[in-house]
Amino acid sequence: MNKSFWSPGLEKLEPYTPGEQANSKNLVKLNTNENPYPASPEALSLLAQGDFADALRRYPDPESCELRAAIAERYDLNDNQIFVGNGSDEVLALSFYSFFRRSDPLLFPDITYSFYPVYCQLFDIEPRTIPLRADFTLAVEDFAGNAGGIIIPNPNAPTGRYLPLDQIEELLRLQSEQVVIIDEAYIDFGGESATRLIDQHPNLLVIHTLSKSYALAGLRLGFAMGQKHLIEGLLRAKNSFNSYPIDAIAQQVATAAIRDSAWHADNCGKVIATRQRSEEALQELGFQVVSSKANFILAKPPEPGAETLYLALRERNILVRYFNKPRISEYLRISIGTDDEMDQLIRNCKEILASQS
Ligand code: PMP
Repeated sequence: MNKSFWSPGLEKLEPYTPGEQANSKNLVKLNTNENPYPASPEALSLLAQGDFADALRRYPDPESCELRAAIAERYDLNDNQIFVGNGSDEVLALSFYSFFRRSDPLLFPDITYSFYPVYCQLFDIEPRTIPLRADFTLAVEDFAGNAGGIIIPNPNAPTGRYLPLDQIEELLRLQSEQVVIIDEAYIDFGGESATRLIDQHPNLLVIHTLSKSYALAGLRLGFAMGQKHLIEGLLRAKNSFNSYPIDAIAQQVATAAIRDSAWHADNCGKVIATRQRSEEALQELGFQVVSSKANFILAKPPEPGAETLYLALRERNILVRYFNKPRISEYLRISIGTDDEMDQLIRNCKEILASQS
């Protein structure tokens, strides 16, 4: 391939590869942590019945005022403490660009969301991975010392491990001169959000997404919450890349979804109940299950092991995530589907394990 037109950085860039997006209707898709249920009916009926002719003819509100107001109300913050982007991936990218120092390393766990090293490369930030303990818990004290910032997902991905708020506060104190990002993509499935620490901590940025607990991964909507000076920084970066990032329809649909708090609570409750049931069923089959507060489970299957089981499930049209990476190559990450989908998974695992023993 002729790469002579590429900038020097581009050739070295190793892009993130998301989990397979297979489209077959017969597939039980438990590999990318999507929500198995349709989104809030308020949001869906707006899409089905809304009249968007004017909204589409005009440029969208560049400041997403209504959406930001709905988010602020939901989290008891001010509108000027909210920043919205096209999925939390975009919000993360702008945050890396805006807040992490080029002169000092960015700290994150050795097992974590694989987009972080990609952004480090993209923005020329030195990554320093901090090893998790053997049980995949995080030792806050390991994040002391010279740093240009910290980012951790809470709950962590793909482990599902959750760090309580007192330890997040400890992290914020350890690096009080640097921005600490808590990526709370999965927080609604049983964790307590760090948003209530925002007023006391000028270095805290909390990032959320509508892709998981709101069942709107296709809409691409994520947001950051923090004190005004951090949000102003993100706005400055955003306006230099794309001043109209959120399209008019997405703004309206996301606003309706955020306001439908009853649907949201009910959905999270269903996913949590299915997770608990699935953890027990997997343990009964001999899996070692890492206790999860997310909408997925990381679990180590018995013999013949993770890769063989992943391939055998795939043959049977069931997709789970297998990572060929250090420390987790013996595990599978299984997204929480509907009860029926999880029953199919368990039944098939049982058959495959029995046939191999
Ligand atoms: N953070 C974490 C920890 C994730 O697992 C994901 C989903 N892959 C994201 C952020 C990005 O989510 P989205 O861009 O869909 O908002």
